[in-house]
Amino acid sequence: MKLYSTKNHHLSVDFKTAVFNSLPADNGLYMPTTIPVLDENIIAGWDKKSLPEIAFDLAYALLKDDISAEALKAIVDDAANFEAPLHPLADDVFILELFHGPSLAFKDFGGRFMSRIMAHFLKEEEKEIRILVATSGDTGGAVALGFLNVPGIKVTILYPKGKVSLIQELQLTTNGNNIEAVEIDGTFDDCQAMVKQAFHDEELNAKFNLTSANSINISRLIPQMFYYANTYARLKQQFEHITFVTPSGNFGNIAAGMLASKMGVPIKQFIAATNSNDIVPQYLKTGVYTAKPSVQTLANAMDVGNPSNFVRILDMFDKDKTKLEAAFDAVAFDDDAIKVAIKEVYQEKQYIMCPHTATGYLAVKEAKAKNQLDKHAYVVLATAHPCKFPDVFEELHIPYEVPAQVAELYHKAKHQIVMDNSYQNFKDYLLSQS
Ligand SMILES: *Cc1c(COP(=O)(O)O)cnc(C)c1O
Repeated sequence: MKLYSTKNHHLSVDFKTAVFNSLPADNGLYMPTTIPVLDENIIAGWDKKSLPEIAFDLAYALLKDDISAEALKAIVDDAANFEAPLHPLADDVFILELFHGPSLAFKDFGGRFMSRIMAHFLKEEEKEIRILVATSGDTGGAVALGFLNVPGIKVTILYPKGKVSLIQELQLTTNGNNIEAVEIDGTFDDCQAMVKQAFHDEELNAKFNLTSANSINISRLIPQMFYYANTYARLKQQFEHITFVTPSGNFGNIAAGMLASKMGVPIKQFIAATNSNDIVPQYLKTGVYTAKPSVQTLANAMDVGNPSNFVRILDMFDKDKTKLEAAFDAVAFDDDAIKVAIKEVYQEKQYIMCPHTATGYLAVKEAKAKNQLDKHAYVVLATAHPCKFPDVFEELHIPYEVPAQVAELYHKAKHQIVMDNSYQNFKDYLLSQS
């Protein structure tokens, strides 16, 4: 697969380069130069295939020149080794639960696939890689657990003291082995700045093979197509049209669904549901894209004021707003609406949604009022397990379950390196390691 930069369509790099660089030097995003379309017969056979088998068909179409079929099959099987079940909420509304992976959020698909792709390319070179990431919460857990015990790769995660939830902190600090957590007495922006400075530091680069595990890495986008295609396969006998509703922050998850659709997966429409950070819904209304400082909401993994993946979506539609609107809509909901939705679904359906998923449910309610089609299913992507966001459920007096893997975390020893907000200390610490 060759990739271009959304800021330079003449650029052409191979997949391996895009994986290890994450971002082109011009600060655009990598996108496939040509998007392959799957043979109709392959897609027609998917109702008899499993999630990992469907995942392989998609990944192989993109990566057949980069990774052998055998190796790719092993990577896909190992990365997509947990279920993505559909929970019916009504005859034509389904919740696609993407939180059955190790960090209990959809980001596990990306984290696990990326780590295994990197390890695969490393085998040929046998150079240890040092991943540096800053996290404000969910990304760190998916990266930590995604890379845990992956040979040849060591991960250092920086997180802001007192600013991630307890579960998130435990997911970062209880792993040991090749994962280390550094607690910085500062903000997420401070952590991010230290990581950025490290990537530009000659002394560190001379000693380590530094790489980022950025959320916009192309190898995190590819595996997010898998569950859209698998859901289509599960529903295609019963329904003629499927609309996917994706709770969106950086718009990577929904961009992956749209990429799957460009590869031939028959999907009627995509709806992005946002919280009060309504940059994209406003863009559709006004035709003007205006980034804003993010505002804090209950659905905090979507508190993004300048959704980076939106340029990927625009590129897939030749930057033509009219073409985009034929397949895509975006709607925003505030915290009050989110709370009402959580309560309503709990009382009426005895189902508990996390605040992010609740925005998707609200979008379905709106869309269904306008829909005229028969045999049309709505699928809301449930992006995280409710137990990751306990505060809102305590406020609403809703008892939520804590899965065994989370309960176990409380019994594990926490190991973090505590540091003040000083780049020099961070650098000295890294240099002191072998
Ligand atoms: C990251 C995240 C999102 C937003 O996904 P994007 O790909 O950034 O749009 C939504 N919900 C949860 C729980 C997340 O962790």
